[in-house]
Amino acid sequence: MEKRRKLIAGNWKMYKTLPQALELVMELKRLVAMVRGCDVAVIPPALLVEPVGRKLTDTGIAVGVQNIHDVGFGAFTGELSAEMLPGVGATYCIAGHSERRKIFGESDEVVNRKVKAILSVGVTPILCIGETLQEREEGRTTAVLRKQMEVGTSGLSEEQVGRIVLAYEPVWAIGTGRNATVEQVAEVHGWLREWLGDHFGGSVAEQVRIQYGGSVKPDNAAQLMHTKNVDGALVGGASLDAASFAQIVKSSL
Ligand code: PEP
Repeated sequence: MEKRRKLIAGNWKMYKTLPQALELVMELKRLVAMVRGCDVAVIPPALLVEPVGRKLTDTGIAVGVQNIHDVGFGAFTGELSAEMLPGVGATYCIAGHSERRKIFGESDEVVNRKVKAILSVGVTPILCIGETLQEREEGRTTAVLRKQMEVGTSGLSEEQVGRIVLAYEPVWAIGTGRNATVEQVAEVHGWLREWLGDHFGGSVAEQVRIQYGGSVKPDNAAQLMHTKNVDGALVGGASLDAASFAQIVKSSL
């Protein structure tokens, strides 16, 4: 069975002006240009995706988009359509980040429509799932993840699920400096792999990359990235600094 290539992706959220973004990627280019053993992506705010991508031409570092609306073209002032992703060179697009779910009220059904829209234009969705602290403390982690997976992948073929990247991001670990333990990560990732196998077959389950996200930093990345069933990281805060992000990339090898 082919070994899954790790994907280390930096979600910049709503940070960086254009000059700051270009400076960051120039530095990143210098620091990770020689890395060949994993996939690397930066996911800037949408306005910056095209110029950042241009700076990264021929570096092997991909660009992604943080969010889209769930329909094609239309009268939706301020929104972005999946149709626009390939033209700006986006390889990835996040769907269902917990900040979108919580702050903007995105349901699993909306997230599912976004995943379908992203797949329909040949871009790779990074489908984010994860429980809140209260849900974990109430012993509902598996139930929450099951629903997010069931609805999030509803109506997708095996081939389509095989093209998704999953990001397990416990909400309580995002931007808090508190990361999940290796045991917690191994347990959830193992459960997710099994769930994929039960619903879409063993070969799809083996193919899907499952990232961990939640306060991944240079000092905890190596341990997390070498945990069973962890195929990379979705990195928020630490991806805003080229040296930190580069160190995380190198720790994953
Ligand atoms: C994220 O934004 O997806 C994330 C995991 O953030 P942080 O690394 O800052 O916790």
